[in-house]
Order: sequence, then structure tokens, then C-alpha cells
Amino acid sequence: MIPLRLTIDRRALAANWRWFRDRAGVPAAAAVKADGYGLGARLVVETLRAEGARSFLVSTFAEAEALGAPGEGGEILVLHGFTADEAPAAARMPWARPVLNTPRQVAAWASAFPGRPADLMVETGMHRLGLDPGAVAAAVAAVPVETIHSHLATADEPANPMAEVQCARFRALAAATPGHRHSLANSAAICRGRDFAFDLVRPGLGLYGGVPHPAAEVVPVVSLAARVIQVKALAAGDPVGYGATWRAPARARVATVNLGYADGIFRACAPALRFHAGGVACPAVGRVSMDMIAVDVTAAEVGEGDWLALDFDVPRLAAAAGLSQYELLVSLGRRFERVAA
Ligand SMILES: *Cc1c(COP(=O)(O)O)cnc(C)c1O
Repeated sequence: MIPLRLTIDRRALAANWRWFRDRAGVPAAAAVKADGYGLGARLVVETLRAEGARSFLVSTFAEAEALGAPGEGGEILVLHGFTADEAPAAARMPWARPVLNTPRQVAAWASAFPGRPADLMVETGMHRLGLDPGAVAAAVAAVPVETIHSHLATADEPANPMAEVQCARFRALAAATPGHRHSLANSAAICRGRDFAFDLVRPGLGLYGGVPHPAAEVVPVVSLAARVIQVKALAAGDPVGYGATWRAPARARVATVNLGYADGIFRACAPALRFHAGGVACPAVGRVSMDMIAVDVTAAEVGEGDWLALDFDVPRLAAAAGLSQYELLVSLGRRFERVAA
């Protein structure tokens, strides 16, 4: 048995999915790249399929293969596009479709799979991936294009006008390319309103309990639990952990639990780390070690071998640690046993 547990609340995942889909009012493709933002992409796909999801986004054909067949009517979109060395994998997965980003990718796909559909990513201002708008006509002539995508740089900054500028550019592109579906919105952009929804939306973060925008109504999906290795009785003034950065203000009991920064609970998270033992909140104290955290359990009944729940509030912990919510989620380590609830 692995004594570190990451529980995925499938009902919460499904509820978040429905919220983003209904908010957008158009079909949605779920972003499950990086193994479902660290939660386990297979479980995510299985859960969302039961809610009617049929389209899933990964980064590479290798990720698509790891996921397996998406089931009846399912499709997998591959965001990094296509290179010739991925042809064998693409041939094995008729349900996978690249999102082509460059003229070279367009040419490689057209030559490897003449007549097989692909999507396009088009530049509207982020300057990360995507064809220049002037290259779209040639791409559409070379490949049967299903959906034309673009991506926003500032969707999660409500006061930043850049998202509207990108949206207007994309609207012009959509008007110039009728006969294709168009897709612009990630989780944050879905929250901005239906102007951003076009024909297909691409939620990720919000599905997993991240809060991408103040308007998002998201429920937590991930809960974490760790086990107590040892409990120590301290006298006032006794220090705890590396650097002896914390001292007991009075007589105290401190439990050492079996997770740390190797599991994605970083040292910078320490001030915001709170555990729960049978309804009693217990703060972490001192520095986070590689595989251990000290918890002040003076107020709780806690003994060796007990489980403590970590209060895994994604936006609060990320903010406290100076991390993005994405980084916090994808850093949750492989030592957690991932279980569905
Ligand atoms: C990852 C990704 C998404 C999902 O974004 P979230 O901010 O997690 O909702 C959507 N579109 C593209 C192109 C992506 O790379």
C-alpha cells in the first residue's frame, strides 16, 4: 500500500465540466495534456465521457497513445502538431487529429496522410504557436481542416483589454473562413462570456478545481492525505525541522507526515499549509523537507500511523507559494496513489 493518497472526486470533476460546457453553450473539448494536469488522464477521460465529452486535447501523439482509444465517437486533438516521425503513431490512431501550427507541419501532414483531416492553430497575438493568418488559405487548400483554433494570452486577467483585441481578430478570421468550426476559449475565456465561445471551447484548469477567473464557479476535485510517521512532545522553545525556523511557543505535540517537496508540496507553500485531523485544523510548522512536513497537532488526537488530510485549496496554496495553479497541480508527484471517489 502506498501511504500517500490523491483522491479525485469524480462528481466534482463532472460538475465542473458541466458548468464550463453550459456557460459556453457550445461543445467542449477537455484539455487532458500532461496526464490530465497531473491527476491521471485516463480517469479524467473516463469520467467526462460519462458526461458526454467526446473531444480531448493532449500535447503529443505519445500522450495520445498513452491515453488509449477514446471510445465510440471520441477524438483526440494533438496540440503540438505533427512531424513525420509521428506518422506511425498517427496511423495507429485514426481518432487522433493534429492541430497544425506551421506551414511545415501542414506540408508534413498533407504528405503523410493525404485527405485526412486536421485542425489549425492561428496566430492572433500571443506569439507562441500558430500559423500567420496569411498562411491559412494555403493550409486549408492542402488539408481538410475541421476546426480553426487560436489561444488567448490574457484570458485570466479581467482588466487586461488584450483578450478583446485577440477575440476581434479571431472573429474576423472566422468570418473569412466559413465552413470550418472555430475555437478560441480556454477555461478563463469561457468565463468572460459567449462572445468568446465560437463553435467549440477548450476548458482545462477549471475542470480540475483551479479557479481561472473570478466568475468561475468551480468545486474542488483533488484532496490529499498523508500518514503520520512519528509524533513528538515538545517543550516551550523546542525547535522543529531544518534551520530550526520554528519553535514551540508552549508545550506542543508535533506530527511528522510523509510528504514533502518531492511530492509537489513545495517549501514556499509552507505558510499556507493546513492539515485536518478529525475536523481539527492543524497548521504545518517549520520548513518542508523532501519527504516530510511537521504539523502542529497539539489541538487534535493524532497518533503514529494516522492519516491527515491536507487542505488542498488550489488558488490559495498557489498564491501563497508564488506559483500558478497549473504548476501546483502538475507537480503533484507520482508517489501519490491516485484513487477515484
Ligand atoms: C492547455 C490549453 C487549453 C486549456 O487551458 P486552461 O487554461 O487550462 O483552461 C486550451 N487551449 C490550448 C491551446 C491549450 O494549450
